[in-house]
Parts: sequence; structure tokens; C-alpha cells
Amino acid sequence: MHEPEASTPAAPDRSAAWRPETRAIRSGRASMGTSLAPVLWPTTTFVTPTVDDARRMATSVGPERFYTRYGNPTVRDFERAIAELEGAQDARAYASGMGAVSGVLLAICSAGDHVVAPRQLYAGTQLLFQSACPRFGIEVTFVDGTEPGAFAAAVQPGRTTLVWAETPANPRLDLVDLDELGAIAGPVTVVDSTFATPLLQQPLAHGVDLVLHSATKGIAGHNDATLGVVAGSAELIGWLWGFAVLHGASASPFDAMNGLRGLRTLGVRLRQQCETAQLLAEALEAHPAVEDVRYPGLASHPQHDLAKRQMSGFGSMLAFDVTGGLEAGRRFVESVQLAQLAPSLGGPETIVTHPASTTHVSLTPEELAANGIGPGTVRLSVGLEHPDDVIADVDAALRAATEG
Ligand SMILES: *Cc1c(COP(=O)(O)O)cnc(C)c1O
Repeated sequence: MHEPEASTPAAPDRSAAWRPETRAIRSGRASMGTSLAPVLWPTTTFVTPTVDDARRMATSVGPERFYTRYGNPTVRDFERAIAELEGAQDARAYASGMGAVSGVLLAICSAGDHVVAPRQLYAGTQLLFQSACPRFGIEVTFVDGTEPGAFAAAVQPGRTTLVWAETPANPRLDLVDLDELGAIAGPVTVVDSTFATPLLQQPLAHGVDLVLHSATKGIAGHNDATLGVVAGSAELIGWLWGFAVLHGASASPFDAMNGLRGLRTLGVRLRQQCETAQLLAEALEAHPAVEDVRYPGLASHPQHDLAKRQMSGFGSMLAFDVTGGLEAGRRFVESVQLAQLAPSLGGPETIVTHPASTTHVSLTPEELAANGIGPGTVRLSVGLEHPDDVIADVDAALRAATEG
């Protein structure tokens, strides 16, 4: 007979040492009970036991079981997972990346306020700042996001309420120095970190106030969820929430479930995409039909040292110019067989876009150049196919586009 054990000493908690890709698998499970997979709560509303409960929930910040535009258990799981991965106190999910972008802008800025933003931006964000902000009396100063000190120099003390950055940025993978941004005091600083996902860089650790993602891209990662998210301090996220319930761009529980599903494989997907992107970038640099390959992992990237300092991997996106200009760029995106012509990024399928003949077709050559887009510029999102197949497809399409 064994002596009954007095008490089993508690095993030390090893979870504190888990790496980010492990935490991406284990985070955001509070509403799942014993289900291993994310649980979908499609309900739009919740029964409150008493009038007092209903009043309490109607007047508290972010109730989880009151009305889904205010909060929802599946969406909360996704928000908590992103907060954990970003080292944030809290997060708020939105119906899309642009829902998050406009939600942050309109929650923070009022008529008469001033915003500093880089010229290198996702087209939707750029249009919002350029076309919508003037209608609301919000002035935006655009700076070169790669120029040291440019953001801080454009801040107008007492008037600038928001400093926006995107890194790595559309379309040429330009970077913003996160330490410089984090050192700006006064206005709220925001980084659109979509291209990096929560696993490749941590803007909040550099002192930035809010980090934002289009989770439609790498986070959900399968081209089947339209979703945005912002993470930061509990105070700032509470403030954003107050406008978000009025703005109404609340995340769908179904998309939040797919966001959580995507997080589980984000680490291994990114590892493959970074590896293939590096190999493809190197092959393109040596290709006679290509000029100016941009990938943060290439030593030739003008900010490669900064990329090494602030990123733990260089991502799935690259840009290059096909020699022969507009016609060659067009022929290239029509000649790929494995890659497909589509907007978006970060999914399993390799995707190409030719901005000059598609998304940016209305711009003049001068405007294109100001946006870092040449007539032959191609943007490519590396998928999960075998790297040799991706490289062979791009090589064959380049030959087809530029020969004969
Ligand atoms: C796609 C994207 C957005 C907008 O996200 P949606 O989910 O399409 O609304 C914002 N920022 C960046 C960097 C993006 O790539």
C-alpha cells in the first residue's frame, strides 16, 4: 500500500516560456468550454436574467453577452487571442480591415484635428485620408515614411491627435522605424501591421499605442474571412469600443471563428511563406527580365538593417518591376499558371497583382510614381505551394511576358 500523497506539489507553469507561434495555438479559448476547436456563437442577442443585469450590461464597456454589436463570445475569444499575441491589454475586432482603420480614425479625430500619415499606404487607407478626411474637417499631412524623423517633424503639438504608419507598407515593402514612432509623445500612434501579422513584429513593444491588422489577410489566412482588429491599452480599446458600437462595423462571429482557426496555423504558414519569398526574391534578383526587386529579407532592400532589427521574419509579400513596362507587366500576370491574378494577400494561394493596369489604373504616370508604382510593377503574395513550383511558374511567366 502506498501512503496517500499529502499533496501533489503544483508543477511550475511552463506557459510563460511559450513562443509566439505556440501561444497562437493556445490563446483565445475562454468561451470554448471543452471544445478543442473554436465555438461559433451566431446569436445576435442574449437573454438577461433581470432588469438590473440588462442595465448593467447596457452601460458597461464591452459586455460579452448582451447584444452582438457590443460584444460576442466568439469575437471576444479572437480579440483576446490577438491582444495576447501583441502584448496588449485588450483588442477590438471589426467587420474588415477598413472597418478598423475608419473606426480608429473616427473614434480619435474630430473636426479641426490634424493627422500625420505616410505616403506609402494601403490604397483604401490612402483614399480615406485623402478624400474623406477633408469632408470631416480633419487635415492630413503625408510624409515619406522611410525618412528618419519625418513623422515627428510633421507633428503639430496640441493639434495632431493621430500619427499613422504602415510597415511593411504597400506596395514596395517600405518600412517605418518603430522605435522612432514609439518615441512620439502626445498624439495616438497607430501601426497597420497587416503585412507582418502579430508573429513577425511587435509594434507595442516599441512604444506604439495601437497595432492594427486586416485579419482578412495572413491572420485568417485562407481567403474566407473579412475581418479587422486593433490592439492596445484597455483604456484606448475602451475608447474605441465606445465609437465602434455606433460605427457598427462589428466583426461577424463566423469570421472571428475563422480568424481563430487561422491563428492556429499562422506560425507554420509564415515559416513556409517567408522561406519561399526569400528564395523567390533571390531568384528574381538574378533574373534578366526583372528590375528593382523589393523584399525586406534581401540585403539590397534599402532598409534591410531596420528589417533585421524590428522583424523576426520578412513576410510573404514582395514587389518587382518586369522589364518592358505596362505591356510586359500585363502579360506577366496573364501568363502565370500556378499564381493567380487577384487582390489580397497572406493566403495559401500565390497571388499576383499589376497595380498600373488594375487597382491603380485611374492614376497618371506621375501619380503612379508618387505611389511607388512603375508601369511594370508587380506585387506578389507568396502562398503555400512548393517553393520550386512557385519559382518555376514566375520564371516561365516572365519569359512569356518579355520574350518575342
Ligand atoms: C487589405 C488591407 C487593409 C484593408 O483590409 P480589408 O480587410 O480589406 O478591409 C488595410 N491595410 C492593409 C495593409 C491591407 O493589406
